[in-house]
Amino acid sequence: MNNTIGIYVHIPFCRNKCPYCDFNSIAVNSAPDDIYIDAALKELSGHIKERPSLLNKALDTIYIGGGTPSLVEPHNIKRLIGGIRQVFSGAAPDEITIEINPGTATWDRLAVFKDAGINRLSIGIQSFNEKMLKTLGRIHSAEDSVRCYEYARKAGFNNIGIDLIFGAPEQSIKELEDDMETAACLRPEHISTYNLTIENGTSFFTLQKSCELALPSEEEQTLMYEIAIHILKDRGYNHYEISNFSLAGFESQHNNRYWLGMDYLGLGAGAHSYISSPDRYIRGQALDRASKGQTTDWGTRWWNEKNPYAYMQLIKDTDHAIAGKETLKRQEALEEGIFLGLRRLTGIDTSWFSTRFNISLKDLCASKISALKAAGLLYEDANSIRLTHKGLLLSNEVFAELI
Ligand code: SF4
Repeated sequence: MNNTIGIYVHIPFCRNKCPYCDFNSIAVNSAPDDIYIDAALKELSGHIKERPSLLNKALDTIYIGGGTPSLVEPHNIKRLIGGIRQVFSGAAPDEITIEINPGTATWDRLAVFKDAGINRLSIGIQSFNEKMLKTLGRIHSAEDSVRCYEYARKAGFNNIGIDLIFGAPEQSIKELEDDMETAACLRPEHISTYNLTIENGTSFFTLQKSCELALPSEEEQTLMYEIAIHILKDRGYNHYEISNFSLAGFESQHNNRYWLGMDYLGLGAGAHSYISSPDRYIRGQALDRASKGQTTDWGTRWWNEKNPYAYMQLIKDTDHAIAGKETLKRQEALEEGIFLGLRRLTGIDTSWFSTRFNISLKDLCASKISALKAAGLLYEDANSIRLTHKGLLLSNEVFAELI
């Protein structure tokens, strides 16, 4: 499993800046597609030159996210995927995803994306309620979203995810229920539902400070989350991660990489990468030298310059746009293994944890696990430790207690 890699490409351009958004994105009239895609491919070549061993890994997933990747001219998306595949020759990646904003999705675009080898769409619908779409500053209507979904099906996509937000200003419980029911009725293979959080630096943050944002109370937001879980599970969706639901066999493979601490290479402005230390794995076996004291490095993480124009200039001048880098030590990797592993509803596979870190989870935090079990927040069986339903609603408290 560790001889594989996923590639994330960040496209930072959007039509408008949504008032709640703190992603690395900027509003543009027209995205400098050609130059930006050239830069992403040049960045990839630079990484390969520096770490030729990356080519020993099989490319499993490509995820093109943003921003609004569906703003990029489809021929450039095709060129991007072709360029990546040329570098990582071998079998086609299992999963190639692109995020789609329904306000930018024409039939022609979706057809070219399909032709480019994309086999999964993640459509940022957010809500089917016109009032809420307006509040969230989205550039599309509910009708646009349904049309986009239908186009996607007609174009032959059989793996479609829908993103929804709950807990928006003035959203009622009934509106939340309608959103979940409408999404489930469309029958996408995957549904993500995120509780709106108000991030520093956004327009919503300013409004909240001046008490102009009528958000549902914390209790209402928890209730909304519980209702969303209930409706989606009732409609046959498997709740496999705190915010994610899927039909059988349609979990997001790319996001699973993040939750399982697997390697990924990020290209583009502000993109993050994580590559495990090469001597930790020999012929796919987790020979955990780090835990045996033979090396202290677990892996390397780095992140790119966030400003898209500065990013393009840096790549032009130097092949790299790395703004920061850190070496992950075993202790940090171990804490992330707990935190990310518990996000998945199947929890942490205890033998996987022991093999990976050369210590059992029980030995590591037996008394904390016992206390959390006694409080009804964790459940343990012979193979795993996972959040209970109550633990799911209080997941941040559980993580803080364990780490
Ligand atoms: S479309 Fe997405 S990335 Fe762009 S501003 Fe809105 S929320 Fe942010």
